[in-house]
Amino acid sequence: MRMQVRFWGTRGSIATPGAATVRYGGNTSCVEVRSDAGDIVLIDCGTGAHALGQMLLKEMKPCSGHILISHTHWDHIQGLPFFAPLFVPGNEWHIYGPRGLGKSLRDVFAGQMEYTYFPVALNAFAATLHFHEVVEGGFAIGNMRIATHYLNHPALTVGYRLEADGASLVYASDHEPHSAEAAHGHAAAIEGRDIAHADFMRDADLVIHDAQYTAAEYDAKVGWGHSTMEYAVDAAIAANVKHLALFHHDPSRTDDAVDKLLDAARIRVAQAGSTLEVSGASEGRVFNLHGRGDAEKFARYMPSSLVKPTRDVAEELILIAGVSATERDMLAAAAAADGIRSVPDVSFDDIKRALQNGESSLIFLGDDLPDGDPIALVRTLRALERGSDVPIIVVTHQSKINAQEGEAAGVTEWLSWPYSVQYARSRIRAWLMRSMLRWRKAALPDHEEERLKALHKLNLLDTETEERFDRHARIAAAALNAPIALITLVDRDRQWFKSHLGFDFSETPRDIGFCSHAVLADAPLVVNDALTDDRFAENPAVVGDPHVRFYAGIPLHAGGACVGALCIVDHKPRNLSPAQFRMLHDIARLVEQEMDPQAEVKAS
Ligand SMILES: [Zn+2]
Ligand SMILES: [Zn+2]
Repeated sequence: MRMQVRFWGTRGSIATPGAATVRYGGNTSCVEVRSDAGDIVLIDCGTGAHALGQMLLKEMKPCSGHILISHTHWDHIQGLPFFAPLFVPGNEWHIYGPRGLGKSLRDVFAGQMEYTYFPVALNAFAATLHFHEVVEGGFAIGNMRIATHYLNHPALTVGYRLEADGASLVYASDHEPHSAEAAHGHAAAIEGRDIAHADFMRDADLVIHDAQYTAAEYDAKVGWGHSTMEYAVDAAIAANVKHLALFHHDPSRTDDAVDKLLDAARIRVAQAGSTLEVSGASEGRVFNLHGRGDAEKFARYMPSSLVKPTRDVAEELILIAGVSATERDMLAAAAAADGIRSVPDVSFDDIKRALQNGESSLIFLGDDLPDGDPIALVRTLRALERGSDVPIIVVTHQSKINAQEGEAAGVTEWLSWPYSVQYARSRIRAWLMRSMLRWRKAALPDHEEERLKALHKLNLLDTETEERFDRHARIAAAALNAPIALITLVDRDRQWFKSHLGFDFSETPRDIGFCSHAVLADAPLVVNDALTDDRFAENPAVVGDPHVRFYAGIPLHAGGACVGALCIVDHKPRNLSPAQFRMLHDIARLVEQEMDPQAEVKAS
């Protein structure tokens, strides 16, 4: 069992043929991946895709597969119109790429093939093409699981993590460190967004990472959207990666210069006392990944990232409050560059009103407001009836942020000065993507900390499955003729299932949970058809696994708090009769007795 990875293009920015680049290669980004089951996945479609297409056509018939596009800069898509398998009838190709704010993915490719630039139009491809737009999350190709993660680049860019056959590969190009210190090679500065980036690569067998510059070159390249070799190495070490391939070589970097870069990288690894292996990505090189036999890491539920755009970016509105005039202008410029409206200087009351009326899509809060410190203000906003809908970004000049308190208050993320317009623009796109979807995560209930205390006191989280609970799930599913029944405990950031009948995973993120909504309201929740409900229509659990259409959940109480829900789920829209509803209710009371038998003794 193995995953095979082969480089067809390793160069960044522009194809660079010639004697000086013959060893590492002059073609732009293109990587071929094959799973043991024979699925073919290309990552990026730079000029290297031309030779790959020729080879594939000779080898297989029909010649079908999948193409993952990180972003639509030239060097990552220029090979697409020259990828011969797309011209052959009977072939079928799926193309995945980040969902942009304006044009659809298909339109972007059609634009690249306008007659001014290319003699054949996109719709003249004889193969059947399917376009899939992705946000952060995951999806599957055959037995391969793909996770996506936003990178920091002037264009909206996603990194891909591929897992199959016990092996894992991460492709992270093009990406600029969030922290300038980390870009300069201070390993300790890998924290916040940069540690989130490292986490995406965690324990991977092979990471293909942007290493276009060196720390010494970085000052002249700030905001260009690329990593330094030092950052790539430090992040890979922090993420316990097995092998790092330096990728997206600068066009001016000769083979000898890449050799030097590689030497420096290996010295850096040795100095850190790490066992990380490093190589320079070179055209034609093949990696056979056998994995580390760690099947556990593949068992995590991943919310679907495949989405269909329903709203237009022109409908979005960004509100900015309490930031300096300079930053106001920068944020407004960053929004305007993507055609997004913003109001750069509003009061806190304006924000409250806009939230109540559902008028804003994204909020920036600075620390220059008369109404109080931003974390307290976020807490106030989140307590509003529609306060959970919108990302709230706290803009700060402080070097040390209180991330934990901020998270508890409901801060979506921090934007720390200094940053560039370019950086703000790419972050704004990523933040808006979520709020533009038709789904809302549940707000935190009042007295959340006491609620969690009551939940943790039960000592049920992360325990083995138990027949005394499973039988109730089984009865609920049978009595109500539902394919899925769950006994859900809503923890700080996850829904953990004490019983999960008809659903393979033991937990999902709290954000996507239906039960989180039932717990918030502390009232039964029945969703007859998720697709017609704005709170759930584009929820990843509706769009992807387990494809929820119908949901009915009854809150579960223990220690005076609402700790979870008993629910049934179906893949088709449904209604519950009053008798069925009562039955679900009765079973929920039985589950409560199992959860907290002592409370029952006291009561009786
Ligand atoms: Zn590039
Ligand atoms: Zn790029």
